[in-house]
Amino acid sequence: MPSTVHITVWNEFLQEKTDEPVRKLYPDGMHVTIANHLNAQDGITAGTATLADPEHGLTDEVLVKTDVLIWWGHRAHHEVNDEIVERVASGVRGGMGLIVLHSAHFSKPFVHLMGTSCRMDHWDENGKWEKLWLNNPTHPIVEGIKNGTVIPETEMYSEPFDVPQPDELILTSSFESGEVFRSGCVWNRGKGKVFYFRPGHETYPIFYDPNVMRVITNACRWLASGDDQHRTPNIEL
Ligand code: ZN
Repeated sequence: MPSTVHITVWNEFLQEKTDEPVRKLYPDGMHVTIANHLNAQDGITAGTATLADPEHGLTDEVLVKTDVLIWWGHRAHHEVNDEIVERVASGVRGGMGLIVLHSAHFSKPFVHLMGTSCRMDHWDENGKWEKLWLNNPTHPIVEGIKNGTVIPETEMYSEPFDVPQPDELILTSSFESGEVFRSGCVWNRGKGKVFYFRPGHETYPIFYDPNVMRVITNACRWLASGDDQHRTPNIEL
């Protein structure tokens, strides 16, 4: 792992300006909330980029020094320039990590790197609980996360999720309404890795949840390390 892990947090940054419940939760934008958390961790430095920035904030200069790119989008996937999508995808193939959050399952970089529709069967913004179950409890991404960890209020996503078979299935979610979803998946693409992490609906305080942020922080370190050797289990089951 590099001595300092360089993260770029990308957000379309639209609903925080137009939707009052989202603005209340994330007055400076989800990207800033996530970056602030990461910058408080040892050995991580995080910057931000948004849709409105020139080249969406993802210039060659930014990407070349980004170990892991985090992506949140929802309403404006279609507004992302295809040239930037190709730049991100080739960055991943060259070894950059990509963490895709929640509704970014439909983001252009993710769909491009998966090669499938990335659709799910159905969803419901019902504000009910989600439980995170550990498919691989020794994986570094879930270090410190207990099996059955509850996120109290969330949007439900249901299988089937039209993605290629993950190279590593790390988390499965169950929901109060009964559905299940593969909520933590890793795919290898060239020298890089893509991690899809499902939680993150904009009207709930998901990016203040310590367990959610722990998974994202762990994933930043692991995707930057280029080391897929699993560590000794150190969590309580
Ligand atoms: Zn959502």
